[in-house]
Amino acid sequence: MAAVAPATAAAEVDVAIVGGGMVGASLAAALWGTGVRVLLVESVPFGTGTQPSFDERTTALGNASRRIFEAIGVWPAIASEAAAIRSIHVSEAGRFGFSRLTASEQGVDAFGYVVANRAIGAALWQKLSSSSAPQLLLRMPAHVQDLEIGDARVRFTLERGSGAAEQIVAQLVVAADGAHSQIRAAAGIAADVEDYDQVAVVANVATDRAHEGRAFERFTREGPLAVLPLHDGTWAVIWACRPAHAARLLSLDEAAYLARLQAQFGWRAGRFVAASRRGSYPLRLTRAATTVGVRTVLIGNAAQALHPVAGQGFNLGLRDAALLAEVLANTAGDVGSAALLRRFAQWRARDREGVVRFTDGLVKLFADHRPGMSLLRGLGLLMFDLAPPAKSALARVSLGFGGPAPRLARGLPVRHV
Ligand SMILES: Cc1cc2nc3c(=O)[nH]c(=O)nc-3n(C[C@H](O)[C@H](O)[C@H](O)COP(=O)(O)OP(=O)(O)OC[C@H]3O[C@@H](n4cnc5c(N)ncnc54)[C@H](O)[C@@H]3O)c2cc1C
Repeated sequence: MAAVAPATAAAEVDVAIVGGGMVGASLAAALWGTGVRVLLVESVPFGTGTQPSFDERTTALGNASRRIFEAIGVWPAIASEAAAIRSIHVSEAGRFGFSRLTASEQGVDAFGYVVANRAIGAALWQKLSSSSAPQLLLRMPAHVQDLEIGDARVRFTLERGSGAAEQIVAQLVVAADGAHSQIRAAAGIAADVEDYDQVAVVANVATDRAHEGRAFERFTREGPLAVLPLHDGTWAVIWACRPAHAARLLSLDEAAYLARLQAQFGWRAGRFVAASRRGSYPLRLTRAATTVGVRTVLIGNAAQALHPVAGQGFNLGLRDAALLAEVLANTAGDVGSAALLRRFAQWRARDREGVVRFTDGLVKLFADHRPGMSLLRGLGLLMFDLAPPAKSALARVSLGFGGPAPRLARGLPVRHV
């Protein structure tokens, strides 16, 4: 790997990013070539079977995310693996309400793009590892130990396996290490965890009908079932249901799983004819009490991990990364100062709170089975279909807007020129 520097007694960097998953690798890519000295630490190398971020899942990227990836130069590699979402169909099992949004009605080419996480990882890691970037140190697999967060500096030891260790000094540590963030805990930042009592069972499936860019979200009594188009003509299925039901779905053979899926989803996508291996993800809302601490910033799932119902978790985390890159790349002095971190947290607050509330509210609205609620939701979906302002509001969320937009999300270079 070209960018790895020789081990030294103490490496001094501006920013240490801990976690090289979807969001941490995106931040490193956004800072690439800006002059900010970056260390990226990842415990599970990209491309290994156990990498938890770039795994078999797919991600629906909003248009703001597409612009961010375009601006940091990785979109061409992702685009060839992406399926455009041209319409979104929302329905509730057992009710008459049905709503359909089309991208053309909203004046956009696509609501977003569905891409395999591994394809996103390949594009990011190609950028991070192939070109010579003297200001980027990549360490993987590596683990942070003995983290000391002081008023003036952050210090830690990097454990690089087989007894090799390296001392690191940084102005700022970025926690991009996911929902169970070690850095968040070490910084003494509490996190609130709410279990949705749902597990997402994911698989890729083939049908006998072309998808034509259609995406479906069907709310069932146990949780939402999303069926999304993929670039090779197949579909990604994300089926959120009660844990016991998820265990049953995981234990079924392919034919039995396809039959269950057909019965639950119906025939809108055609006949389900083949399915990949299934994976499962317990669903929780994890929300850090604050996104900044002394010389510490939390981004992505370390700051907030969401239910995938609205496909917002990564899109939100990417905007965290894009705005943080902008703040860091345009700061001449100390990139870990309290004033800078406070400003970052304030700028991100509206987007973060809005998306968390929207996503959590949607899960709870459709999980509410009190008498009358289902009828109201059915009417809501019908009204929603008849009321253009409501559709535009959802489309805006799908497009990834809310709060001050980072320069990268507006297609501008990360640095002011
Ligand atoms: C089923 C499902 C479907 C989803 N679909 C969508 C979607 O369509 N659209 C969307 O926007 N979002 C979606 N999401 C959410 C999205 O997957 C997450 O928001 C995203 O993965 C967050 O990325 P992250 O890098 O913050 O965290 P993670 O993906 O958890 O990555 C954390 C990284 O840090 C590394 N790490 C952990 N601890 C350490 C340590 N101590 N030292 C070094 N490295 C460490 C891990 O190995 C990993 O690489 C979905 C989530 C699920 C569960």
